[in-house]
Amino acid sequence: MPSSWLLIENGTVVDGAGSPASASTSVLVEGNRIVRVGPEATADAVPRGEPLTRIDATGKTVMPGLIDAHCHMTYGESRTEEEIDLYTSPELRTLKAAFHAQKVLRAGVTGISQPGGSYFIGVGLREAIKDRIVQGPRMTSAGRYISTSNSLTDWYPDSVGVPEGSIGILANTVDGMKDEVRRQVKNGVDLIKLADSPYGDYQAFTDDEMKIVADLAHQLGKKVTIHARGSAEVDAAVRAGIDWIMHGNVMSDETIERLARSGRPLVPTLLLLANVADYGARVGAPAPLRDGMKRMLDKTGDSLHRAHEAGVRMVLGTDTGFSVAPYGEWHARELELLMDYAGLSALEAIQAGTQHGALMLGLDGEIGVIAPGMIADIIVVDGDPVKDIRVLQDKRRIETVIQDGRVVVFDEAALARHWPHERGQAYSVTDLTYDLVHGGSGAPGNGDLPELDASDARDLVADLQHREASARTD
Ligand SMILES: [Zn+2]
Repeated sequence: MPSSWLLIENGTVVDGAGSPASASTSVLVEGNRIVRVGPEATADAVPRGEPLTRIDATGKTVMPGLIDAHCHMTYGESRTEEEIDLYTSPELRTLKAAFHAQKVLRAGVTGISQPGGSYFIGVGLREAIKDRIVQGPRMTSAGRYISTSNSLTDWYPDSVGVPEGSIGILANTVDGMKDEVRRQVKNGVDLIKLADSPYGDYQAFTDDEMKIVADLAHQLGKKVTIHARGSAEVDAAVRAGIDWIMHGNVMSDETIERLARSGRPLVPTLLLLANVADYGARVGAPAPLRDGMKRMLDKTGDSLHRAHEAGVRMVLGTDTGFSVAPYGEWHARELELLMDYAGLSALEAIQAGTQHGALMLGLDGEIGVIAPGMIADIIVVDGDPVKDIRVLQDKRRIETVIQDGRVVVFDEAALARHWPHERGQAYSVTDLTYDLVHGGSGAPGNGDLPELDASDARDLVADLQHREASARTD
């Protein structure tokens, strides 16, 4: 059977492995693999009569597609944890995830890993993408986060418990944890996600529990990762043999040393924090949340600079899936944040967003680099990301997305769609007291009330109405 060929001609190649950019370089793809890069990559190498697609990349950058190792496809751009866990049916959540996957791919993200989500939607979506039922990035997925009563995801009072639709599953005993690992592996996950304490101030798992989960996952041929924001959890995760670590916001020098020595990658996932801190005010994020994220970000910057100097390998992850980090919007901003908050160079940041993510896709050494033998997930960018990393954030500059050696064709008009949020229970973003309206005891008087108009979407209720109205006029 004849191969199909793709020749990307005369671009500036940024290989994703950290090498300096290489100007006027062509890339030849046969089937789904890169076969030649450089002077040998010409149409002469293609057997006569076999189909060849040519892309002129003169003045453009040719680089591997981005890999986002922390992308939650089941969250559906939720504004609240309740919306994530309670208000969307599994059926609608699955369909939304399938739609959103296209947006992620359109942004030049050709690979994602979902470290936790509700039901086994991630597994189904992964298979549908692989079988080309759905257009989206290649994907690996965890199931529900394994949580204790002291972890992230056990948000609600015990009278409610952790609902069936939750992104987490409660397991307070070693037996419960092992049962859940076995059940998730049976249902097709690629990795197990552990949920440690929300803000990193204590360990939610004992060392033994963590090690038993990691050992069982490995015995069954799967990977394991963890939400770990503090030094103690990162340390415990390294001791337990967790494959890669999410966050690592506050780490001592000793922890960083041990992490670096272990060779285990860190996925800092700065984007969610930075989006809330920098832009949250524009979409009604409460001030205490914005301030908290800003403080966390500053501490993280200190830890990450030290970690980078110590040689810890960093990977692009964004926590995309919340209303403040919608699908296909901000993935590449993480690269800019890794430069600002960890001190990476542009080439190192690109490597964090390409080569280093291959492990999370289960394709280490096979993807994320422009070199002969590698899988051909490639983007052609109008701009020079080595000079200005921010060009990758503007989707209009992601001119061509190539997945498995094929140029992806998008339905751009369909991708522009948003729809109303699921119902929420918010009445306002603050208390409507007498003094707030009429003044007194230092509260702002009537004239000082903030302008809350629907088009600004500053307030949660107005935001909901605004989005419903704009969805109707689509
Ligand atoms: Zn996450």
